[in-house]
Amino acid sequence: MAKKKKTRAAKPGRGPTRGKASKAGKAKRSALPASTKRRKHTARPTRRPPRAEGRGRARARAVKTPLFRRVAFIGLGLIGSSLARFLKREGLAQTIVGHARTAATMAKSLELGFIDRVAATPEDAVRGADLVVIATPVGACGAIAQAIGPHLAPGSIVTDVGSVKAAVVRDVGPHIPEGVHFVPAHPVAGTEHSGPEAGFADLFRGRWCILTPPAGTDETAVKKLAEMWRLTGSHVDVMDPAHHDKVLAITSHLPHLIAYCIVGTANDLEEHLKGEVIKFAAGGFRDFTRIAASDPIMWRDIFLTNRDALLEMAGRLAEDLAALQRMIRWGEGDKIEEILRRARGIRRSIIEAGQA
Ligand code: NAP
Repeated sequence: MAKKKKTRAAKPGRGPTRGKASKAGKAKRSALPASTKRRKHTARPTRRPPRAEGRGRARARAVKTPLFRRVAFIGLGLIGSSLARFLKREGLAQTIVGHARTAATMAKSLELGFIDRVAATPEDAVRGADLVVIATPVGACGAIAQAIGPHLAPGSIVTDVGSVKAAVVRDVGPHIPEGVHFVPAHPVAGTEHSGPEAGFADLFRGRWCILTPPAGTDETAVKKLAEMWRLTGSHVDVMDPAHHDKVLAITSHLPHLIAYCIVGTANDLEEHLKGEVIKFAAGGFRDFTRIAASDPIMWRDIFLTNRDALLEMAGRLAEDLAALQRMIRWGEGDKIEEILRRARGIRRSIIEAGQA
């Protein structure tokens, strides 16, 4: 199994807060323990943290230097619009250009004000951009990369936000010309909502963002992208794409698979029973329906592009499920209790890690 490279260990829940520049500065400083400074991909903020003014009691004023001159977003849904909102709010991009599949999404994004202008094609969007963010379903990334490849500015950074990484590296990488830096990323944050109206600037705060730069990627580009994500309040980690896909298969993709499956099973029940499933949908089933409300195109693409890792995890689950079924059949209460206790402990550690 590929080894995970950790770039930083930060306290969860910290991040830049609007109107609390001194706190944001503190968060940035505390987010960089001395031990991480020597690491390969550690992205130290290149800008000084904001300083307090006056007698020290005055509110600190953040001197905002844009990180990017021009950012192009291809895909303006939950994730793209959240990042665009954050960059705009914090003044980290001079201009934000947006492109989406439909005119309606582009018009809505302009109206909501998180982009400055719309581009009719992906090629148009990326011209002159120093950061390009592909924020579409994973299955669309390859064709988009092929279209934009010849129009990318030398020295620019291309990134994505896809939930699967090996397939994105495989599909996008070959279309990125020499002199352009491809730094794939996955912000492990989200909701079951989609579209430009679903986004919000603080979506990434306290969450992890995993970067999976191919070997030999320009260090400065990786650091700059890591800095951007860190400014959103995210913790940044660097991983091998295949390792990322295995980890996410169990923590995110399999739970979604189960949710879609269980809601489908309930739906297949007879009409009168279905009514009662809805009527008495208490905690457990309700939570599954929330997860299963996620965008079908996005999840179709995730299931298909992370096929091997997901099938492996689904196989393990099937074995564990069969074992549990057997314990229930034979009334093995002690064994069942042990499994349930272990699971409860895992929930506690997630809460303690600030990821609940
Ligand atoms: P979303 O809300 O459904 O938005 C998708 C966006 O992509 C829409 O603006 C859509 O445009 C656009 N789009 C789709 N196909 C396109 C194409 N061929 N060319 C140009 N634009 C296209 O999805 P999302 O939740 O933001 O997810 C985006 C990416 O983030 C996915 O790769 C997903 O795996 C990843 N991700 C999602 C989450 C999550 O919880 N949702 C979390 C982490 C990462 P229209 O609106 O015009 O169709």
